[in-house]
Amino acid sequence: MTLPVSSMISVEEARERILAFFSRLPVERKPLLEALGQVLAEDVVAPFDIPPLDNTSMDGYAVRFDDTAGASEAQPRVLRVTADLAAGYILDTPVGPGEAVRIMTGAPIPPGADAIVPFEETDEPLRGLNEAAIRTSAVRIFKAAEAGANIRYRAEDVRHGQTVVHAGRLVRPSEIGVFASIGLTHVPVYRRPVVAILSTGDEITEPGDQLLPGRIYDANAHSIAAMVTKYGGIPHLLGIARDTVEALTTKIHEALDADMLVTSAGVSRGDFDVVKDVLAREGAIDFWTVRMKPGKPLAFGAFMAPNGRRVPHLGLPGNPVSSMVSFELFGRPAIFTMLGRADWQRATIRAISRDRVVNTDGRRFYARCIVTRDADGKYFADLTGPQGSGILTSMSAANALTIIPEDQASAEPGDEIDVMMLDWEQ
Ligand code: AMP
Ligand code: MG
Repeated sequence: MTLPVSSMISVEEARERILAFFSRLPVERKPLLEALGQVLAEDVVAPFDIPPLDNTSMDGYAVRFDDTAGASEAQPRVLRVTADLAAGYILDTPVGPGEAVRIMTGAPIPPGADAIVPFEETDEPLRGLNEAAIRTSAVRIFKAAEAGANIRYRAEDVRHGQTVVHAGRLVRPSEIGVFASIGLTHVPVYRRPVVAILSTGDEITEPGDQLLPGRIYDANAHSIAAMVTKYGGIPHLLGIARDTVEALTTKIHEALDADMLVTSAGVSRGDFDVVKDVLAREGAIDFWTVRMKPGKPLAFGAFMAPNGRRVPHLGLPGNPVSSMVSFELFGRPAIFTMLGRADWQRATIRAISRDRVVNTDGRRFYARCIVTRDADGKYFADLTGPQGSGILTSMSAANALTIIPEDQASAEPGDEIDVMMLDWEQ
C-alpha cells in the first residue's frame, strides 16, 4: 500500500477491501453464559433422549385409561390411590386395575398407567390435602381419559445422538437453555475479537481530568468502545495520544496483542502529517475518501507490531458522529466476521420522510433520524435536527440512519426513503 491514495470509493468498496483482511478467530471453550453472542464452532449432539422418560405434563392422577371409561360428575369412577409421586422420583410398583397414583408435573409415568387425569377432573379440589388422607383415600374421577392423555413421551423433543444446535449458530438465550438441558457447562465458540482503541489529538482530554481552555473531552474512544462491546468484541482502551511521533508510536505499540486497532482523528486532509506519518511508518495504510456523509475520510491498513504480528488498523475520522457512523459501517462488519457471523448487514426498511433531506454533494447521506410506526403499521422518518458531524446528540436521539443515494439531490416530505435501523425496538 502507498500513501496517500485519495480516490473516492463507495461504502461497499471500502467495506469489501476492509473485510478482505478479516476472518473468524480461533475456537475457545466458554462457560455457557459467557458464550452469549458468540458463534458455535462445532455441532452439539444430545447424549441422551429429552425427555429421558415418559412423564406427566399435568398435576393429576396416573391411571389406566379404561378404568375411567364412562366417568362423569354424576357417575364418577372411584379409584384407590396407592402412592403419591413427586417430580424427580421413580415408582416401580405398577398401577393395577382400579388404582391411581397421585402424580406431579414432570414425574415419570409409573408402569401400568397410560393416562393422566388432571386434578381439575377429579374430586381433588374438594379433598383435604392431609397427607394421610391422600395416601389412603380413594379418588373420584369425573371425566373419561383418553389413552396417552397429558403424557409427554420420552425423546419427543430430542433423540439421543441428534444434533441439537448446529455449528455456525449464534448463541442466544434459547441455545444456552438447550446446552444446559443436555448437561453442558462449556461450549466451543469462535473467540471474541480484542479491539484496541486509541484517540489522537492534542485537544483531547480524558473525562475526569480538568478541561483546559480550547480542549474537548474524548467522546470517540468511549462511543467506539461501547459499540465494540455491543457488537460482541472486547474493547481495550489505549487512551489518548498527543500529536507527536513519540506519543503516537508508544501508544500504537500497546496494541500488539489486539485483533484490530481503531484510531480516531488525524485522517482528514487538513491534519498534521505526524499522525499519517506514524500510521504509515508503523505498517502500511491507505487513506481513502469514501462517498458517504458523515465520515468521508477513512484510513485502513495493517500496523506491524514489534512482535511481528500484523494488526488490521481502521483509522476513523475525528468528528464524533463521523467516527460512530464509520465504525457502524466498517467496524461492525469486521467484528462480526471475526466472531464468525455473516449477518452484519443491518435491517433496512422503507419509511416515509417527514422532512426535506438535502444531499447535493454526491455522497450517500446517512442522516440521523427517528423511525416510528403509526397505527396502520406505516413507518415514518423524522430527522433528529441539525446534522453536523460534530453534533453527537443527533446520534443519541436517533434510532436509524437515512440512506439517501449518492445521486439523489433531495428527498421531499412524503417521499419514501430507505432507512437503516440501528435500534429496532418496535
Ligand atoms: P480531525 O479528524 O483530527 O480533523 O478531527 C475532527 C474533529 O473531531 C475535530 O473537531 C476534533 O477536535 C474532533 N475530535 C477528534 N477526536 C475526538 C475525540 N476523541 N472525541 C471528540 N471529538 C474528537
Ligand atoms: Mg486532529
